[in-house]
Amino acid sequence: MIYPWLADHWSFFLRRLEQNRLAHAVMIEGPAGNGKHALASAMVAKLLCSEEQAEACGQCRSCKLLAGGAHPDRFELHPLEGSEVIKVEQVRSLIASLDLTCSISARKVACIEPAQSMNLAAANALLKSLEEPAGDAVLILVCNEPARLPVTIRSRCQSIVVNQPDTPLVLDWLEKTSAKSRAAASVALQAAAGSPLRAARYLASPESNAYSRVQESLATLLARPGSVSQISAGLAELDADELWRWLSMCLAEAVRSGMAGKAANWIPAGSRLQMQSLLELQKQADDNRRLSATQVRGDLLLQDWLIRWAEQNI
Ligand SMILES: [Zn+2]
Repeated sequence: MIYPWLADHWSFFLRRLEQNRLAHAVMIEGPAGNGKHALASAMVAKLLCSEEQAEACGQCRSCKLLAGGAHPDRFELHPLEGSEVIKVEQVRSLIASLDLTCSISARKVACIEPAQSMNLAAANALLKSLEEPAGDAVLILVCNEPARLPVTIRSRCQSIVVNQPDTPLVLDWLEKTSAKSRAAASVALQAAAGSPLRAARYLASPESNAYSRVQESLATLLARPGSVSQISAGLAELDADELWRWLSMCLAEAVRSGMAGKAANWIPAGSRLQMQSLLELQKQADDNRRLSATQVRGDLLLQDWLIRWAEQNI
């Protein structure tokens, strides 16, 4: 099923396909967590399916092989394990495979994701294939950061830009799929910085109220600066990367509200917060998020930051 906010992109793709005007290479671009991967997967399935239906039928031989991960006309390029880049050898091997005749479907389809992981040599090797397409093959590039790809690649792809969808549309979808309240969906979407799929994950997890919990913890510390150890122990249960992202978002919200001359709604009335300190704490949270992926003692990092936050109000 296509996510509701992708309906227009999907119709565009189907129209192009029906009119025989689908480009040899399509680039799906836009921020992370908004369904680009799902759109690419649906396109791959539709391009390979042997039935004439709006979406892949799920029943034909092609669809069954695809579901089993063994479709001979379907190719995928990702960075290999332990690497962050897609290398030139991988691209060369893909191009050689695309040159062979199709086994089952009417065309071969390759998905390159994330496309910006191609190093320069890999991108150049792909460029040759984009200039002289092999038969009926379709290349789908999925990309969060198109600016990292050479302009020569981007200019040869038909671009499908998936922007962050409209909030009401996403809230309707979150409410329906999670069976949670609109208020809960709204908090989850805020915690996910607008990414619908991440918000859906938050709602599905037992920690669905984690972002509110982070806000409450910060509010408690403003009222009771002595409770750092207790608050810190509670927050340390959360995933460190998410926690620092949320702390940074809380601070960003406090700064935004401060600039508009009011306090963020989770901050206790009468708190005395300095804009400069808020900005510094936000930067520190972003730095700590990066540090949390290293060998540093995460608990000390968190305590230190929370002490600085609690001191705000003293
Ligand atoms: Zn099918």
